[in-house]
Amino acid sequence: MLTSIATVSIAGDLPQKLQAIAAAGFGGVEIFEQDFLAHDASPEEVGRMVRDHGLTITLFQPFRDFEGLPEPDRARAFDRAERKFDLMGAMGADLLLVCSSIHPKAMGGIDRAAEDFRELGERASTRGLRVGYEALAWGKHVFDHRDAWEVVRRADHPAVGLILDSFHTLARRIDPDTIRRIPGDRIFIVQLADAPQIEMDLLYWSRHFRNMPGEGDLDVTGFMRAVVATGYQGPISLEIFNDQFRGGNPRVIAEDGHRSLLHLMDRVARAEPALALVPTMPDRIPVQGVEFVEFAADAVEAQMLGALLRQMGFAPVARHVSKDVTLWRQGDINVVLNQERTGFAASAHAVQGLTVCDIGLKVASAADTVTRATALGADIFAQPHAEGELDIPAIRGVGGGVLHFLDDSVELSRVWNTEFTSLADTAPGTGAGLRRIDHLAQTMSYDEMLTWTLFYTSLFETRAAAMVDVVDPAGLVRSRAIEGLDGQLRLTLNGAENQRTLAGRFIAETLGSSVQHIAFATDDIVATARAMAALGFAALPVSANYYGDLAVRLDLPEERIAELQSMNLFYDRDDSGEFFQFYSGLVGRGMFFEVVERRGAYGGYGAANAPFRVAALRRQLAPAGLPRL
Ligand code: MG
Ligand code: MG
Repeated sequence: MLTSIATVSIAGDLPQKLQAIAAAGFGGVEIFEQDFLAHDASPEEVGRMVRDHGLTITLFQPFRDFEGLPEPDRARAFDRAERKFDLMGAMGADLLLVCSSIHPKAMGGIDRAAEDFRELGERASTRGLRVGYEALAWGKHVFDHRDAWEVVRRADHPAVGLILDSFHTLARRIDPDTIRRIPGDRIFIVQLADAPQIEMDLLYWSRHFRNMPGEGDLDVTGFMRAVVATGYQGPISLEIFNDQFRGGNPRVIAEDGHRSLLHLMDRVARAEPALALVPTMPDRIPVQGVEFVEFAADAVEAQMLGALLRQMGFAPVARHVSKDVTLWRQGDINVVLNQERTGFAASAHAVQGLTVCDIGLKVASAADTVTRATALGADIFAQPHAEGELDIPAIRGVGGGVLHFLDDSVELSRVWNTEFTSLADTAPGTGAGLRRIDHLAQTMSYDEMLTWTLFYTSLFETRAAAMVDVVDPAGLVRSRAIEGLDGQLRLTLNGAENQRTLAGRFIAETLGSSVQHIAFATDDIVATARAMAALGFAALPVSANYYGDLAVRLDLPEERIAELQSMNLFYDRDDSGEFFQFYSGLVGRGMFFEVVERRGAYGGYGAANAPFRVAALRRQLAPAGLPRL
């Protein structure tokens, strides 16, 4: 399978684009004419540059407003085509994309278009070139791949084929299974793009909001399943017009693109077993829960964090056999405090200050997880083992943090007993009823949200929930949950659009730390709040206005409101159940903790409460200009 991507999909000048595309693992590239024109080099030089990167040109595009014109416009369109053929010949591109006409004079007529294409195919073939016809979703007469195919079929020329583009088919809600009726060898190239489901003008939607397969809401998998069923063996090529991508980091966007194609073909192979496509990696990994969260801290921060953990009912239960690392535990929650002066945690701390540097996930097979992650382009993480340390499989997450994977294989399941010595002299924590980690909230710049989403959803058996807006007085923060199918893994991704929001400030101050808050689950929030208060924990004070609003919004009795207010509890409910939350104040450079109780099947995160939580946390920020303690 030759993977390809259009130069238009990523940022940079042509050399930067080609560099990023080759580095990400693509074998082919579509040269978008504008990228060639903007670059000051001859077509021969561009062709050489492409080949020097080990890439082949899969397509030269676009050629517009060709078919169905009256004379003399028709003759002029053929002249224009000849100029493109000259260029392609010099560059070493053999396939030209002709998109369906939007020319005001285009007359329509399947046979007229077929006749034009037969002649164009004849001219192309004398130069050893081919042309492909693509139905634009907003084409004047042809806007459906079935009509484009009919034109190609009637043109009946070996140098004329069909170009399919998932966006144009799916955006018009055309059943992709209609592709199964087309012979695979008449499809010259397949372009892929996803997009979020937005009701807007098709052209504007296509030019600005496309994204990588798996990042949007279109059924690109269903589209590609139909394509492979035809026997199509040609390149699969990303053609993504996206404002964010064009302003993003070329390397990251190209890597996302390559990952999205590998993930897509893996889904397709599994969904079409009869086609005998072979999956090349283990299936998406179900996550059974968060086994540990590890903080990197210096002595002062460790003391401060330890005091807060005690107030939340945690106790230090074990020390690492050879490192300055302490394990704190409550219920099934393991919090690791790493004060090492060397190694990964120390370098993370040097850059980010107090930070979550490592997350341990429980999976069915740690080895399979790493195999799939590396097949999708993730980097394996390894550092020299200290005395007594196990070799726990790990990779680098998106933001540079580390993800470790633990499973039930004999050795890995004994990590806490093997690497740690229990602290017999420590009084056991009384516990405050915290049972497990409910969710980890990761913060990133809004531009990076799709990268994180694709990373998690392609590696793990998860789904991405719809995006919700959280209003911060200083700007919007977009939030979306990534959830395992059984609720064992819950991550919330928060994308900050600017650095003045609480989330944006956190990224700026920590230079890109990701975990901003950790939510622990209790089965009895009132008992937990009381137990923690008795241990000295001060919950984040919630404004009286919140409770006034709550009483009206959810029609709650006064006594109920008074009880919630007395403990600074946030409350939400929907048809499936109820949700209770309270928070700590800010820790370090903008982290905090949350305690939640879910009743019934409530599956959300209290989004309606988020603006009040943000406002309450903001009141704790030091005024600008004052030194931070
Ligand atoms: Mg296209
Ligand atoms: Mg939360």
